[in-house]
Amino acid sequence: MCDTLISLPNASLDDYTMFGKNSDRLSDEVQLITHQPRKTHEEEEVKCTYISIPQVKETYAVLLSQPWWMWGAEMGTNEFGVTIGNEAVYTKEKIKKTGLLGMDLLRLGLERTKTAKGALDTIINLLEKYNQGGNCAYNGKMLYHNSYIIADHQEAYVLETADKWWIVEEVKDVRAISNSLSIRGKGDMRREGIIQHAIEEGYCKDDDDFDFAKTFAKSKVIGDDVPLTPRAVKSTELLNDAAGSITVDMMMEFLREHEAGICMHGAFESVGSQVSHLKPPRKKSVHWFTGSNHPCLSMYKPYTFPIRDQKVNSPGPYEKKNNDWFWMKHAKFIEPFKKQVNEKEKLTYMNEFDALERKIFLNVRDLVKQEEDLKEDDFMEKFNKINNEAWKKAYELIM
Ligand SMILES: [Zn+2]
Repeated sequence: MCDTLISLPNASLDDYTMFGKNSDRLSDEVQLITHQPRKTHEEEEVKCTYISIPQVKETYAVLLSQPWWMWGAEMGTNEFGVTIGNEAVYTKEKIKKTGLLGMDLLRLGLERTKTAKGALDTIINLLEKYNQGGNCAYNGKMLYHNSYIIADHQEAYVLETADKWWIVEEVKDVRAISNSLSIRGKGDMRREGIIQHAIEEGYCKDDDDFDFAKTFAKSKVIGDDVPLTPRAVKSTELLNDAAGSITVDMMMEFLREHEAGICMHGAFESVGSQVSHLKPPRKKSVHWFTGSNHPCLSMYKPYTFPIRDQKVNSPGPYEKKNNDWFWMKHAKFIEPFKKQVNEKEKLTYMNEFDALERKIFLNVRDLVKQEEDLKEDDFMEKFNKINNEAWKKAYELIM
């Protein structure tokens, strides 16, 4: 259960792309901010969560929000600003017991490409070759197909899949995806043979009747109305209402929305959150990650490439959970707030982290304004300091 939102430069207040995602997973599933630098590879294969596939000669530097036990990631970005978020979707197609996880495909897309279009092509090729499948939960069983928003500083794509079948819509200004198929009609690109397959399976009558979301959705569709999750309806409304003036802090605010539950509480919770401000390569894109549960109770911490001296974990998968992880300490700290006791302490905490986040946000904004006047090393030294300060404060808040 997740929500991914995108605003292209024509819908943003400045000239850049804004990306946002909440990763909604089982409430006790730790999600870590991890970094793998650019790497050359001698080994022939890469072991993903369940299967191994041929490795490429070089993988690019990636910054990921990763469920601790898997190879893949729920969301992330790379050194070129390619940024991806995935969603669980439920379709009429059978789900394979093994294969690449949707999250594996996401990481492979980030590691192997320099543009959104490149990542789209890579994910599609790997999906066609190795298919998707496998249990998406560490405890219990969770099987689903995947949809994605794949973005860079100038364009974005919605990719929706049903087993080995796929369809793509190019984003024009703003778009949100959630846990429902949403591409209507025939999309902008689709896998060859998909319409024929749908007719043969009896999902639709003929070519004219093909409407991807309607044809492939597992849920019952009455008339032409394909039900979207209430969260998708809400995030689309928020984006449309703000189109033309969308900013980074607005994106953070959208991800803290509670009426429709974009910030999810319950058995499934928003266990990680990312907002990325994506700029052309000559400028620094800034990525904000919570690295902790509930964006409404977490500070976003800033990152930019090259990632050196910024607080990250080594890339997963990990064998076992570690009580020293910030995510674990934070989850323990906010536990009483979730049960709606200690309301006064909760408000005090929220005011404190809100003020701190504001300060960090303004520090980053001021630094970015000086970007052109500073040498790269000086810029990075100052940026790293803000990242470290944000983490120091985040720790102090929960001690
Ligand atoms: Zn919340």
